[in-house]
Amino acid sequence: MLALVKERPGEGLTLSEVPEPAPGINDVLIRVRKAGICGTDLHIYAWDDWAARTIPTPMAIGHEFVGEIVAVGSNVSDFHPGDLVSGEGHVVCGRCRNCMAGRRHLCAHTIGLGVNRPGAFAELVVLPMTNIWHHWDGIDEDVAAIFDPFGNATHTALSFPVLGEDVLITGAGPIGCMAAAIVRHAGARHVVVTDLNPFRRDLAAAMGATVVVDPRERELRDVQGELGMTEGFDVALEMSGSPAALDAIVQNMAHGGRVAVLGIPSDAVSLDLERVVFDMLTIKGIYGREMYETWYQMTVMLQSGLDISPVITHRFSHGDFEEAFAVARSGASGKVILDWTD
Ligand code: NAD
Ligand code: ZN
Repeated sequence: MLALVKERPGEGLTLSEVPEPAPGINDVLIRVRKAGICGTDLHIYAWDDWAARTIPTPMAIGHEFVGEIVAVGSNVSDFHPGDLVSGEGHVVCGRCRNCMAGRRHLCAHTIGLGVNRPGAFAELVVLPMTNIWHHWDGIDEDVAAIFDPFGNATHTALSFPVLGEDVLITGAGPIGCMAAAIVRHAGARHVVVTDLNPFRRDLAAAMGATVVVDPRERELRDVQGELGMTEGFDVALEMSGSPAALDAIVQNMAHGGRVAVLGIPSDAVSLDLERVVFDMLTIKGIYGREMYETWYQMTVMLQSGLDISPVITHRFSHGDFEEAFAVARSGASGKVILDWTD
């Protein structure tokens, strides 16, 4: 079968013929239909320090996907050939203290699809049955393909109650834009989104931000004044990875404000701990999705009218992956989808 493979250390990817994966007794074999390009895939393509430290080669990459089940292992009775499914890309150990307590997203031994085990930029992918999410009939396949980053957005955005609250989101990448839509759906009042990139600010505005801000041009303090806010933001979601954005959050929270941090810092971060202490802030780190409460929440939000489809701005055949990666890298895009059916 064909897969997008990091053949050896260094820049780039190749569309290569690789052996078909064989499902074990607890596994599900899936024919991939659509897959989303993630920032992680761009890091692996570019072969930065993180990728060089993390990815064994050769490795088929990719972890955001939707596909159709073609075969199941002999222990699998809940899934059947023909089912439309996505996969939770974090494969957990099932035996550590957190896994045994049902807190699987906190597993200390998580293995990443398309990072530590063969991924979903391929005609076929295998996952344990415990990692399979069954979609309802008629779901938009492009939306189903991005449940992984939609799950990052959902897990972060719903970490704290937002009904009636004023929410600050730093970073209008695909995840920040989806988070803006989610907090509006969940009843937030003002949703202020910052980004340096005008394409991304426009996308955030289209997806529910009530105000978009270029932090180089406007102080968040002034934005608060214009909105009639007097005490600061109640909830903030850090979705840029920028140390400056995290500082802007800490300087603009209400007393008792809550901060969920998803962005992976590009650099060492110095935190104004004095503000955190005197303003009594709560800061929570977020990794991945809750298994499977986040997946349930995504499903029911879509079924109750949430629309995240505007975040998908580009679609390419898998054969045109170079062009797809270039668009994803450019910043003039939201989510970029690779079609594996053509
Ligand atoms: P992205 O890189 O597409 O978007 C980040 C955005 O932040 C960009 O649009 C960029 O212009 C903007 N930005 C940069 N500096 C800024 C600043 N000072 N203020 C405001 N905005 C700024 O990323 P994404 O795919 O949307 O993911 C968001 C973040 O979450 C990334 O840091 C990513 O690495 C991280 N991530 C974390 C997890 C997790 O499980 N913790 C999972 C997926 C992604
Ligand atoms: Zn575990």
